[in-house]
Amino acid sequence: MSDSVSSPYLVGLELRGRRVAVVGAGTVAQRRLGRLVAAGADIVVVAPEATPAVEGMAEAGQVQWRRRSYAVGDLDGAWYALAATADPAVNAAVVAEAESRRVFCVRADDASRGTAATPATGEHDGLTVGVLAGGRPRRSAAVRTALLEALQTGLVDDTADPVTPGVALVGGGPGDPDLVTVRGRRLLARADVVITDRLGPGELLHELAPHVQVIDASKIPYGRAMAQEHINAALITHARAGRFVVRLKGGDPYVFGRGYEEVQACAAAGVPVTVVPGITSAFAVPAAAEVPVTHRGVAHEVVVISGHVAPDDPRSLVDWPAVGRLRGTVVLLMAVARIAAFADSLMTHGRAADTPVAVVQEGTLRTQRVLRCTLADVAEQVRAHEIQPPAIVVVGAVAGLAPR
Ligand code: SAH
Repeated sequence: MSDSVSSPYLVGLELRGRRVAVVGAGTVAQRRLGRLVAAGADIVVVAPEATPAVEGMAEAGQVQWRRRSYAVGDLDGAWYALAATADPAVNAAVVAEAESRRVFCVRADDASRGTAATPATGEHDGLTVGVLAGGRPRRSAAVRTALLEALQTGLVDDTADPVTPGVALVGGGPGDPDLVTVRGRRLLARADVVITDRLGPGELLHELAPHVQVIDASKIPYGRAMAQEHINAALITHARAGRFVVRLKGGDPYVFGRGYEEVQACAAAGVPVTVVPGITSAFAVPAAAEVPVTHRGVAHEVVVISGHVAPDDPRSLVDWPAVGRLRGTVVLLMAVARIAAFADSLMTHGRAADTPVAVVQEGTLRTQRVLRCTLADVAEQVRAHEIQPPAIVVVGAVAGLAPR
């Protein structure tokens, strides 16, 4: 051998039903146990004390807990072992027993003295990524994270098979591109066609490959109803042509987003459609402005209302007298244009004029603006500060909690 340093041999162990001995039950062991449980291993934990999480695993029957100190013989029947106590002497003894039994053993306090090493791992769409960096866990974790990110964003194209045509209705979150789900981003990276809205994380579109066709649904030059029909038709036509279509919507597709209409249209046309939930602006935008929509002892309910039609509009389905009687949080979407009518309705039906209100324009974006006022003056303040849609109006005591 010319090499003085040998590199480890990376394998994937099939541990289902096989005995794994874990000595120690502190935070180090706890961190490893999750994946061992997920692998279906028959896990024995040996330790006089355990963290609450490990104790919970024992109670749930996911691991067997021998509540005592390690003794030679604990590795009996094991295929794999982990020495993860705080005592180097005990860890050394576990490694020694493992060696004599020809069982591979990870030593958590000093990886170089064990006979196996745990890679930094991650999952992506049925793919397992594992990285070893010769005892430098920060490096392996960083590389693992970067690899997963590259897969999720499509920077690394792992699609061995062509994507199945159809439509994915993806909730894009409130606007910050970091607030889309992992699944949403993964599907976006595979899209042939993306149909966007005015709302939603526009910045994610910069990541798309040049061949991806982007259709801006907000530019369809018809009235609302017609525009929706055109969107439905576009979804169906592209999917039928064998393309994978991502319909990227703001927030969650089913919160005032007409998402279900699009699902119904696809279903009626026989086009397969999947729905990826998103973080709704109704909750995320208040949070971005440091307004919790619930808070113990302050608000035990939160009601989300569309301000698309005025309270006295015959098409309104909202029971405003009931809403006015509520004591918790009221979140209004699409309410900027008719804010005076909504504030009046809430006050007429019982909400105090000095109820705190927070108005958040373009929440989670760099352009975010926050206005704090009361029900009595919200209409005037919105006008004075020229608040523009998209904005969220939060009414209730939570809007008056002091920001950090
Ligand atoms: N499906 C979306 C809501 C669509 S209705 C969701 O779950 O978030 C459109 C309304 O959402 C806007 O008029 C505004 O009230 C609100 N909205 C969406 N994104 C917003 C943002 N970043 N900041 C403030 N309000 C937002």
